[in-house]
Amino acid sequence: MSEWTPDVARLQALADEEWLAVQRHYCGRLMAYVARRVADREAREDVLQETFLGALRGIAGFDPSFTFEQYLFGICKNRTIDHLRRARARTLSAGSDEDAPPPLDSLARETDTPSRIVGRRELAQSGAQLLADVLRQWVQETWQEQEFTRLAVIEALFSGGWRNRDTWKRFELRDETSVAGIKFRALKRLRELAAERDPEGALSRMLAEALDSGEGDVHFDVGELWKRARVSCPARHWIARLVAGTLPEGPREFVRFHLDELHCEWCQANRDDLEQSCSRCSSRCRPRPCATCTRAAARRPGVRRQHRSNGRRSRCGGPPA
Ligand SMILES: [Zn+2]
Repeated sequence: MSEWTPDVARLQALADEEWLAVQRHYCGRLMAYVARRVADREAREDVLQETFLGALRGIAGFDPSFTFEQYLFGICKNRTIDHLRRARARTLSAGSDEDAPPPLDSLARETDTPSRIVGRRELAQSGAQLLADVLRQWVQETWQEQEFTRLAVIEALFSGGWRNRDTWKRFELRDETSVAGIKFRALKRLRELAAERDPEGALSRMLAEALDSGEGDVHFDVGELWKRARVSCPARHWIARLVAGTLPEGPREFVRFHLDELHCEWCQANRDDLEQSCSRCSSRCRPRPCATCTRAAARRPGVRRQHRSNGRRSRCGGPPA
């Protein structure tokens, strides 16, 4: 992880400082999410307040299988839906046409429970968790192998529901059989990963059926789970480097695809936030240094500049999340 995350135990103990730090760190990206969907400025502030209140109320039941950002974004989404329902307002914000926010119906549908996402009763809960884990592990492996085209192809098929024909054209592959080959190898690896985590084999067999069923209902549900569990979302520092123009070509192509063609709403909110923070001050501040570097810079001038110029890790490197 490259960025600050709160100490959940301290949040659960209602430590003021930790909650203030949460507001400081997450306010920008949450506001960016709300701003794409709620036109009225005051209402945005209300939604944000309600989000932090909801986070406070729900923290005792925090589920550690999600990240804290996912927890906050989930609440923020629900408060946004509540607001849109109450106001029966148009969901358009000031964004451009291509970034038009999804209608209320699709927002609401995405809040389905895990059991509905996976769709088949016997795969609910533990099956969904296992599938999310193996998908995430596959993404990490593929990222570490620098196979960004393979990663984007599988994301297009699983999460975007693209057809083979559209996919090979978009990625300039030889033909449809290239896409089929990538998918075949990915499914094989996913089954191996599932078997490692589930030696008894009961869940693995069901997952294998789900993954093998191709274009049917379950295929679609894998896509829902992919999005909901955010298995391929890059950590925020990757998006910061994209904004700063310092991201190498491979990850840059994937992160752009994820943001601009699959329209990941959470990563878009992070990008909006990072772009806005940069436009508020001089361009030299991009990307915002991680917390470690900010603290180091406070002690020793010059460290921050060095961090910017070489773009390399302090804690700002490595595979996604
Ligand atoms: Zn994302």
